[in-house]
Amino acid sequence: MDACDVLIVGGGPAGSSCAWKLRRAGLDVVVLDKQVFPRDKICGGWITPAVLAELEIDIADYTRGRVLQSITGFRTGSIGGRMVLTNYGEPVSYGIRRHEFDAYLLQRSGARIVQGVNLTTLERSDNGWIANGNIRTRMLVGAGGHFCPVARITGARSKNEMAVVAQEAEFEMSAEQQAGCAIERDIPELYFCADLKGYGWCFRKQNYLNIGLGRMDPHRLSSHVAAFLKFLKASSRLKFDVPCALPGHAYLLYGVSARNIVDDVLLLVGDAAGLAYAQSGEGIRPAIESGLLAAAVISSAAGQYCRENLEPYRALLAQRFRGSGQDWASSIGRHLPSSLISALGRRLLGVPWFAREIVLNRWFLHAGEAALTYPPAAVNRRVA
Ligand SMILES: Cc1cc2nc3c(=O)[nH]c(=O)nc-3n(C[C@H](O)[C@H](O)[C@H](O)COP(=O)(O)OP(=O)(O)OC[C@H]3O[C@@H](n4cnc5c(N)ncnc54)[C@H](O)[C@@H]3O)c2cc1C
Repeated sequence: MDACDVLIVGGGPAGSSCAWKLRRAGLDVVVLDKQVFPRDKICGGWITPAVLAELEIDIADYTRGRVLQSITGFRTGSIGGRMVLTNYGEPVSYGIRRHEFDAYLLQRSGARIVQGVNLTTLERSDNGWIANGNIRTRMLVGAGGHFCPVARITGARSKNEMAVVAQEAEFEMSAEQQAGCAIERDIPELYFCADLKGYGWCFRKQNYLNIGLGRMDPHRLSSHVAAFLKFLKASSRLKFDVPCALPGHAYLLYGVSARNIVDDVLLLVGDAAGLAYAQSGEGIRPAIESGLLAAAVISSAAGQYCRENLEPYRALLAQRFRGSGQDWASSIGRHLPSSLISALGRRLLGVPWFAREIVLNRWFLHAGEAALTYPPAAVNRRVA
């Protein structure tokens, strides 16, 4: 039987960030993941600069053999509508490839890594949990993404969850495809659906192209994706057919569906907790921030992992993500008929001020939100 202070199930950005901070606090940490890293993850791979700051990522070190694409502007609009170019003239975001990024963070965390092992069983013991019958831990962190087994086994998932559904593909373009791709490297393109319930994106990272579409409505996702791809070709943004399938995945937006994220000897982080920003669907930054906040609360509990000592995590998340739980159609007008929201939204998307200040600065870049400082101020009292 192996033993550790903290077992983290899931080695994505949430799990590896939590592990990294806990290792720095001197705890013995095991990260268990069912996949072997580097592994692919369905994702656009767009991150905001706060992510690099919070994780103290050395850009020179990271870019040795990995893709980090600077983003200096965006083209935004509705599918078939007027597109607006917003240029910042300096990097306001980056593009990473998830199989490189996640493997880098996990390796760097300093945790013991058990990979290629599915979490199948969890039993409570006197002093924590026993996972898969052979790992004894004093504290458990569920970081297994939307379908996190910890959330499922412990009953933390709520009924009738409303997930975002999205499909995505990333591939390296041939020379011929590069010549037929009008998407610029540092200017991703965002195309909102007519009903404003989602958006498609085209995102070039060096010679890789990432294309996808996500929606808050699970119905007919594949036909929305097919129509989007058809539109890109018809409008000559891409002069070739996307050469691979677009697999799908689901995840929860903060404030839309709530899971029970704190219990005795247990915390959930990242997609397992359902934290993505409602307006953009950005989930990497919330995953990392929740991992860091969980680590602060666990460290401060100093081995006494009763629910009361872990509760500050809930308050820290609420404080951090307050105001992010409104999808953007609701932000425009909850009480207006959907046809009016749609018409209004399409008009607004074509207005350069709205595209820059509201869509990009406020909803996508969170320009007014500084990177998380660590440790957070309010990790409360501890029960011995
Ligand atoms: C199509 C799409 C595009 C997206 N684009 C972006 C984007 O551009 N920018 C952005 O910020 N966010 C984006 N997101 C959201 C983002 O991908 C997630 O929010 C983020 O990956 C959450 O990180 P995480 O660490 O919580 O979970 P994950 O990254 O999902 O990691 C969970 C880990 O748990 C492991 N695991 C699962 N089950 C088990 C088990 N039974 N036993 C052991 N291990 C297990 C998995 O193998 C995985 O490694 C996108 C999502 C989708 C679906």
